[in-house]
Amino acid sequence: MRKPVVAANWKMNGSLELCEHFARTLVRPENADVWIFPTALHLGSLTDLFRESDIGTGAQNVWCELDGAFTGEVSANMVATLGAELALVGHSERRAMFGDSDEVVARKFKKISDAGLVPVLCVGETLEERESDLAFEAVQRQLSAVEEAWDHPVYSHQAIAYEPVWAIGTGKAATAEIAQEMQALIRDHIDRRSTGESQAVRILYGGSVKATNASELIAQKDIDGFLVGGASLDVDEFNQICEAVNS
Ligand code: PEP
Repeated sequence: MRKPVVAANWKMNGSLELCEHFARTLVRPENADVWIFPTALHLGSLTDLFRESDIGTGAQNVWCELDGAFTGEVSANMVATLGAELALVGHSERRAMFGDSDEVVARKFKKISDAGLVPVLCVGETLEERESDLAFEAVQRQLSAVEEAWDHPVYSHQAIAYEPVWAIGTGKAATAEIAQEMQALIRDHIDRRSTGESQAVRILYGGSVKATNASELIAQKDIDGFLVGGASLDVDEFNQICEAVNS
């Protein structure tokens, strides 16, 4: 049985005060993991605040080298040194705005994994791809790029976040049927590409998750939790999402 996860992607939001507020008021769900991805600037403080707990913390992004002349970037090893355990990779905002091609995502994925962090690989189709019936092709291409760049099993120690681009930050979440359909296709794909890991890998859904739609989405067979953006900045709403996943 896969343990569900509720993950918070704060994007370029948050403050030390928000980190402290979360540490004081987050209600840890008994039956689900909680992961928080603050900005790189706040990751050390947040990780320290949650050090005695089993709340996971992680980076929203790392560069694909470990050190060197890459002004403004941080490496996976630096994230691991803070005591954080996870890193997002391939978020659609990075793919669309910062040039994270499939090839760059694959290189980052490998560095994250080599550093002993758990990569959370974000995949998802654009509206155009969905309307052209190319949604699964797009997701499959993103998954395959990581598989091809890595020659040993990639699914044993990672999570996937299916995040349709058209649902991120738009207030228009995928319906439970659409999310379930794609997440089942992703699990089938993993089944074909791995040696028995498909039932263990956690596949999260992301895209306008709120307290009001969390229960219906989490009831789907292949939805193992959420990656929550906007709604994760409000700890009361985030607690309600955790509660929906927990029950
Ligand atoms: C995200 O950024 O990963 C995300 C899902 O954002 P939102 O919940 O705001 O749509």
